[in-house]
Amino acid sequence: MTVELLIKNGTVITMDAERRVIENCDVAVSGGRIVEIGQGLEYEAEKTLDAAGCVVCPGLINGHSHVYQSLIEGLGYDMHFDPWNWRFLFPVVSKVNPGNAKAGAALAALELIKNGVTTISDHWYLHTDMDNIYRVTETFDEAGLRAQMVFGLLDQTFAGERTDSEYMTMIQSEEKLLEEARRYYDTWHGTRRTTVALGPGSTEDISESLMLKTVQLSKELDINVSTHVAGWIEINSYTIRRFGERDLEHFHTLGLTGPRGVMFHAVWLSDREIEIIATTGTKVVHCPIANAYLGYGISPVSRMLSLGVAVGLGTDGAASYTYDMLEVARTAGMLQKATKLDAEAVTAEELMEMLTVNGAKVLGIEDEVGALAVGKQADLIVVDYKQPHLLPVGRWLPKLIYSARGSDVIHTVVAGRVLMEDRKVLSMDEEKVMAEALSSREDLIERAGQETRDLLTMPWPKSGPAWRSIVK
Ligand SMILES: [Zn+2]
Repeated sequence: MTVELLIKNGTVITMDAERRVIENCDVAVSGGRIVEIGQGLEYEAEKTLDAAGCVVCPGLINGHSHVYQSLIEGLGYDMHFDPWNWRFLFPVVSKVNPGNAKAGAALAALELIKNGVTTISDHWYLHTDMDNIYRVTETFDEAGLRAQMVFGLLDQTFAGERTDSEYMTMIQSEEKLLEEARRYYDTWHGTRRTTVALGPGSTEDISESLMLKTVQLSKELDINVSTHVAGWIEINSYTIRRFGERDLEHFHTLGLTGPRGVMFHAVWLSDREIEIIATTGTKVVHCPIANAYLGYGISPVSRMLSLGVAVGLGTDGAASYTYDMLEVARTAGMLQKATKLDAEAVTAEELMEMLTVNGAKVLGIEDEVGALAVGKQADLIVVDYKQPHLLPVGRWLPKLIYSARGSDVIHTVVAGRVLMEDRKVLSMDEEKVMAEALSSREDLIERAGQETRDLLTMPWPKSGPAWRSIVK
């Protein structure tokens, strides 16, 4: 029998039901799926990749991002979410057009593939032009990635700010959003490797009426409803004042909890709220770097894991400054250990589950991906351990979690298609993607105005954060 792809002689971290780790092992792929895993496989193969001295494992899953922020990375740093939002984010993002959307998504796709990410979930709410999300989805599709695109819904505010602002070009009416969400679902859900979810911005951003209709629509279509929950501490004061409930409690009342509910961040939870998440089978995407960088706080992840909650990992937007999911996992581990004064608070094995099987569970695609097993989609990566920082190996998994970097991934495969081989991305023209991203960013900054440009030329600060020197 001839197979399309044969990966030879690697150490395979399967993440299958038995969590087998098999040394000197081969993986055979046909029709985009894994047909056999074992030692000394003898197939004719259209393509063979040698993985001697390497780890072969499931492709990594980024459960939450906003890829439009790829183009605004580096604009503003060392800032709280607010004022970053209204001083620097809004003037730029209110002007994102389909060309910018495509260029940003392509740059993100390139970075994701180079970091061994095979599935991306992007929360896209920038409907400054309704074509934006289509350009992003097409870009991921052409790059060969697997995607869960979260159709964002904002009918009130963006990040709870300045409702009267000229910058609120992404706010649309309830009717339009629901109609467009359906059209987008009809176009993309189940098309090749893309699934669609619905994504209310946050409790502040959307009206209760739209929230309820969104939940209803997600039930009708049997798709995820994914939203930002209790990320920053102030949100609970806001929801208690307005609805008499904490943020997660309010989402529970509105019907967003349950196996189709995905909560991003989930930092400021009471014991009762953690219990609601656990007993309803609600999913969580933990974004440790974004949460730390923005001063949000640290999510009670080890507690949720101990209660059996499916927790995946995400980067969130440009605040993370990275799409390296190994770095995200490592940070998640370090923060739990350090703050709980407990080296056992979260283990390397749990972090690997968050990157793979649990990430897949969160997105509802665990039957297809997240583990290497016969019949599953061949979404996998090969990590080169023949480097000083990864030798001697000892045990393979902790080296992957605590020492490896995204740049150690040499091959990235999605559905049997080799997207990157020997660090060269085959599904995209790397030079062209980077050049177009730079010119698209220049175009955005030009249209955003002087205050945004000042962020790039501000002087070294006399003290404190650099951005304060340019705030009038
Ligand atoms: Zn987010």
